[in-house]
Amino acid sequence: MTSTVPPRTTREWQAADAAHFLHPFTDFQSLAKKGSRIITKADNIYLTDSDGHRILDAMSGLWCVNVGYGQQALIDAATRQLKELPFYNAFFQTATPPAIELAELLSEVTPPQFSRVFFSGSGSEGNDTVVRMVRRYWDILGHPQRSVIISRNNAYHGSTMAGASLGGMSGMHAQGGLPIPGIEHIEQPYWFANGGDLGRDEFGRVAAGWLEQKILAVGPDKVAAFIGEPVQGAGGVIVPPDTYWPEIQRICDKYGVLLVSDEVICGFGRTGHWFGCERFGTRPDLMTFAKGVTSGYVPLGGVMVGDRIAKVLIEQGGEFEHGYTYSGHPVSCAVALANIRLIQELKLVERVRDDTGPYLAQVYTQLADHPLVAEAQTCGLMGALLLARRDAKGGRARPFAPEVGIGMVCRGHCFANGLIMRAVGDRMIIAPPLVMTRAQIDEMAALIRRCLDLTLADCHRNGWL
Ligand SMILES: *Cc1c(COP(=O)(O)O)cnc(C)c1O
Repeated sequence: MTSTVPPRTTREWQAADAAHFLHPFTDFQSLAKKGSRIITKADNIYLTDSDGHRILDAMSGLWCVNVGYGQQALIDAATRQLKELPFYNAFFQTATPPAIELAELLSEVTPPQFSRVFFSGSGSEGNDTVVRMVRRYWDILGHPQRSVIISRNNAYHGSTMAGASLGGMSGMHAQGGLPIPGIEHIEQPYWFANGGDLGRDEFGRVAAGWLEQKILAVGPDKVAAFIGEPVQGAGGVIVPPDTYWPEIQRICDKYGVLLVSDEVICGFGRTGHWFGCERFGTRPDLMTFAKGVTSGYVPLGGVMVGDRIAKVLIEQGGEFEHGYTYSGHPVSCAVALANIRLIQELKLVERVRDDTGPYLAQVYTQLADHPLVAEAQTCGLMGALLLARRDAKGGRARPFAPEVGIGMVCRGHCFANGLIMRAVGDRMIIAPPLVMTRAQIDEMAALIRRCLDLTLADCHRNGWL
């Protein structure tokens, strides 16, 4: 067999990349100057770049390769389906076996209120579907004015017009006239930034109370839904206090507001439960998923539709004028089936809940002793280290000057030392593949510590402390 990668040098790849490929969320000019890192292969939790370097991928690609790279069952499922039936749509009163079987299996692994799914091609599209669906729901029930969706600052719900509007990223809102009308935002449950002098639990209740204040300000008869990620992922792996979500649920129930859980990252075992809502104790009406549903091997997203909404759409709705060419793509669905069955077979959810998740928490407690780390948090197999200037013992940590860009400095060391760890502002975050072993967690922790030490040395050298 010949290699699928033509023999080009790294420089040749970079030149062609800079000439033709506009990357997502990228300053095109500055990347063109530096040159992309070209990833050519991967196995288990390790990537290989075009210079032959081995890199530990502590981000699972982009939060998605939950079963790790190179899983034969997923490769076989895709190959088989490509030969049998590479595509057929679900528009023409037709369906394909993989889409039907996946819908059935999703109903089994999701919480009991879900027995139906609407497929999309991505998480962003899934959230577009959410907007259409909650507004349609209230419309059918004779409340078309109930159209406002409440979300949170620093949330990430995708990059389409609706996804970016639901999200609370100020940089994204600053470009292209966002958010679209009818989306409101409240402050995020980020204790370190917004907690003031409150204890964590008390802050959780206060932060949830902001939802009630917003509902009252907008008018309860105008609010359609609240959407949130159980743990904010792209916002920096912000794990809310345990008091937060139950209070959000209570407030949604009180005003009849639909609760939407964006499980694109938290779904499929990431938190040590099948879905993040199960970890935090909510009963969402809709659940967006993508990423881990196929472990990223092929694109797929969708929305689990709770019985409360499905009943209205089905019995009173007539035609729902919405859908995507790739809603229920047979190859994506076949891979998702193989992926979910593999998660079940390897007991990955239980493993994260009972073994590797608690072990990562322990390792992060040790990393919290590092002089650069002001906060260390984990949830299942996700983690965040907040880098800040710590005073001698016990003092409150102070943030670095923004010009320092401490996160990017640390990320540079990670890149150079064979570790993919992402920087969100000053938070260094991970979401490694769920197949990761304890020994691999140790290997990752050693790399993280080395990169923190190198970053600390930079701080001393440059007088950033
Ligand atoms: C990644 C992500 C999305 C968007 O998914 P895409 O597949 O990139 O469109 C939506 N919500 C959350 C929570 C995400 O992390």
